Amino acid sequence: MSLEQIKERVGHIELEAKRQIGSTTLIAVSKLQPDDRVIAVLEQGHLDYGENRVQEAIRKWPRLKANYPDVLIHLLGPLQSNKVRQAMELFDVIHSIDRYSLVKRIARIADDTGHCPKLFIQVNTGEEEQKSGVIPAETNALIKATRALGLPLEGLMCIPPISETPALHFGLLAQLAKRNGLHGLSMGMSGDFESAIRIGATHVRIGTAIFGERSKVTLPHNLEKF
Ligand SMILES: *Cc1c(COP(=O)(O)O)cnc(C)c1O
Repeated sequence: MSLEQIKERVGHIELEAKRQIGSTTLIAVSKLQPDDRVIAVLEQGHLDYGENRVQEAIRKWPRLKANYPDVLIHLLGPLQSNKVRQAMELFDVIHSIDRYSLVKRIARIADDTGHCPKLFIQVNTGEEEQKSGVIPAETNALIKATRALGLPLEGLMCIPPISETPALHFGLLAQLAKRNGLHGLSMGMSGDFESAIRIGATHVRIGTAIFGERSKVTLPHNLEKF
């Protein structure tokens, strides 16, 4: 599908679900895509892009941002403590907050620099061992702690287990967010974004459906399936 076709599809589902048109942010996931494909989408004026790894994003985006200064870059992959400062410099939104030590570090650096990206807490809704994210039972506590530090928490993010019905996980995430008064819901990828929008996604993260298959490179084991 082209970017145009996906945007049309997103609008159509918003309408069907009686949601406001344009209330879903479409993040074009540009990880492991060749520059020419990314530039083709940039040239269409698209503003939101997602990356999985801090190092790859640092190689790519400062250069591209020079020509497309209005873009917003979203970090979708796990964030190691030693990369927090770099990540906070580059990314406009971080979707993978998953532990208290991380929010403490972010708060300290934000204090230092006077700047903090918007944050989503990643919830491991399937309680899968190999997946990052806080488990549902510990989500309320991490939300409270993040707010207590005065950080700009927007919402929750999840990646459903491959073998289960995504809608169940989207529903659980929506419930956790609502219970905590959070509006943002980062959920839905190429294969399941329609269901996610029906359940209230504010951010869908779409890679292959926009750009085509990614180039194969060796990734750390916890990222291989993406
Ligand atoms: C890679 C990735 C996506 C995009 O996946 P597609 O199936 O290519 O749409 C979305 N979210 C996260 C967290 C990812 O790592």
